[in-house]
Amino acid sequence: MAKAKRQQAISIESLPFNAEHYREWRRRQIIRMAVTYLAPLVILIFYFHFRYIGLEEDNRRVHLGAIAEHQANILDLFLSERRVNLANLIDHPRFSIPPSSEDMNEYLGDLRRVSDAFIDLGFFDSSGVQVSYAGPHTSLESRDYRDEDWFSKLRGRTENFVITDIYLGFRQQPHFTIAVSRTVGARFLVLRATLDPARMYEYIESQQMAGDVITCIINRSGAYQLVNETLGHPLDMCLLPVSADEPSGFGSFKSETGLRHYSFWWMNNTDWALIAQSVPGAQSILGSPQSRTLMVSAALLLVAVVVIVNRAGKLVAQQKETDQTRAQLEHAAKLASVGELASGIAHEINNPLAVITEESGLLMDYMDPRFGHKLGEKELHERLDTIQKSAFRCRDITRKLLRFVRKTDFDLQEHDVHTIIDGVIDDLLGPEIEVSKIRVKRNYDQSLPKLPTDTNQLQQVILNIINNASDAIGDAIGQITISTSRRGKKILISIQDTGCGMSPEQLHKVFMPFFTTKEVGKGTGLGLSVSYGIVRGLGGEIEVESTIDVGTTFTLVLPIR
Ligand code: ADP
Ligand code: MG
Repeated sequence: MAKAKRQQAISIESLPFNAEHYREWRRRQIIRMAVTYLAPLVILIFYFHFRYIGLEEDNRRVHLGAIAEHQANILDLFLSERRVNLANLIDHPRFSIPPSSEDMNEYLGDLRRVSDAFIDLGFFDSSGVQVSYAGPHTSLESRDYRDEDWFSKLRGRTENFVITDIYLGFRQQPHFTIAVSRTVGARFLVLRATLDPARMYEYIESQQMAGDVITCIINRSGAYQLVNETLGHPLDMCLLPVSADEPSGFGSFKSETGLRHYSFWWMNNTDWALIAQSVPGAQSILGSPQSRTLMVSAALLLVAVVVIVNRAGKLVAQQKETDQTRAQLEHAAKLASVGELASGIAHEINNPLAVITEESGLLMDYMDPRFGHKLGEKELHERLDTIQKSAFRCRDITRKLLRFVRKTDFDLQEHDVHTIIDGVIDDLLGPEIEVSKIRVKRNYDQSLPKLPTDTNQLQQVILNIINNASDAIGDAIGQITISTSRRGKKILISIQDTGCGMSPEQLHKVFMPFFTTKEVGKGTGLGLSVSYGIVRGLGGEIEVESTIDVGTTFTLVLPIR
C-alpha cells in the first residue's frame, strides 16, 4: 500500500520528464539491447542454418551416390546372369544345331522361368538368317539379320557376346538384345534373346531402397533406356548433363518444383549409366528438418525479444526512480542556493517595507485631528502611490524567486543564452550585487545561435556558480566576468571571478556532493555536484581552472544540437 502510494507520487509530482520522453528512452534501450544480444544470436542462427544446408547437401550426395552405385551393380549382375543363361544353353551338350522349334520353345520356357524379362529366343547361322525362333513375333522367323547392328558387331568382336541398347527393330517395339556367339568348326552360330525393358525396370524398382529417389538408365548418347513414365519414355533424350568420361558423378538442376539433385554411375556390362535423382516435396513444410531448426530459432528469438522488452521496462522504472531522486536533490540544492541569496533579498525587501511603514505612519499622523494638518488630495495621492510602488516591488521580488524555486519539470526549447544569463544577474542576483562591491561584467558574443536547453535548470547552474564566485570574492572589491563564445558545435559560457581561487586538492573535490569549505549554515556542498548533474543531463560538460589568490573560471560547454 505504502509502495503504491509512493509510486503514484513519482508519476504525478516529481518526474522531471513527460511520458513521451520515457517512451523514447525505452525504445532506445530496446534497440541497444537488440543490437547487443540479438545480433550475435541471429548471426549464430544463420551460421548454423547454412552449415546445416551444407551438411545436408553432402548427405544427399552420399545418399544418391550410394543408391546409384547399388542399383547399377544390381543391373550389371542381372545382365551378366542373363548372358550366362544364354551361354549355358548354347554350350549345353544336348543343344542340337540347328535346334527344332519344339526345342526352342522348351528353351524359351526354361529361360522365362529364370526371368520373365525374356521375350523371345532366336538361333542364327553364319549368314545372319534366323533359322529357329520361339516367341510371340513369329513373323521374324527366317528373317535376315546380316545388316543389323548387333549382328555385325558380334561378328567383328573378339568377345563372343553383345548386349545392345534399347531399339525398335523389325517389330517396332522398344526392346534390347543379348546375343552369344560360338564358332563350331567353320560355322559361326549365334543364339540371341530379346528382353523387355519394362520388366527389367520393374525389377530395378523392386530393388529400390528409398522412396525419395527415382532411377532411370540412359545410354552413351543420352537416350533413356529404362525409365519411369513420370520422367519420359524409352529412347527420349534425357536432359540431365551426364559426363561420359567419369565413372560416376553428382549434379543438380532446376525444375518447376525447385532444385533437384542426381547422381550417375556407369555400368560395366553395357554402355549404360544409371541415374538416381531426388524426388521433391516428399516432406511436409512442418516436417523438414530445415524448417524445424528455423522454427526453433524463431522461438529462441521470440524469447530473447520478450526478455529484452521486459528488461527495458524495468530499466525505465529504475530510470524514473533515479530521475525522481535527482529531481528532489536538485530542488533541495536550488532552495539552498536561493537561501544563499537571502541576505541580499532581505535587504531588497527591507527597503520598500521601510518606505511603506514610514509613509503609512505619516498618513496616520495626518489623519489625527490633534495634529491639525489637513492633507491635500494631491499629496495624499502621491503618498499612496509611493506605498503601492513599494508593495509592487516586494511582490515582484518574491514572484521571481517563487517562479524559480517552484518550477521542476524539464522543458527543452530553443533559447537565447544571453537572455537566460541576464535573467540570473538582473532578476535573481540584482539586489545582492547592488549592495556588494562586486562589479559584474558581461562579455557576450552576439553572433551565437539559439541553444536548445531548459531555462530554469541552466539558470540554476549559473546562479550556483555566480554565488560561489561572489562568496570567493567575499567583502573585497572584485569582478565577475561572464563571457559567451562558440567552440565548434558547442556554446561556451564562462564565469570568471577575481576571488580567492582554489588549491589543486580543492579543485579535485569541487564536484563532490557535500564538499564545502564554507561554515555551517552557509555552504551545503551541493551546488556544484547538482550543477554537474544538470549539465551532464543537458549533454554538456563543466570545465574549471583556478589559481589560488588570482581567481577561478568555470566554463559550461553546451552542445548546440
Ligand atoms: P557550497 O557552495 O555549498 O560550499 P559548492 O558545491 O557550490 O558548495 O562548492 C563547493 C566548494 O567549492 C566550495 O565550498 C568552495 O570551496 C569551492 N568553490 C566553488 N566555487 C569556487 C570559486 N569560484 N572560487 C573558489 N572556490 C570555489
Ligand atoms: Mg555553492
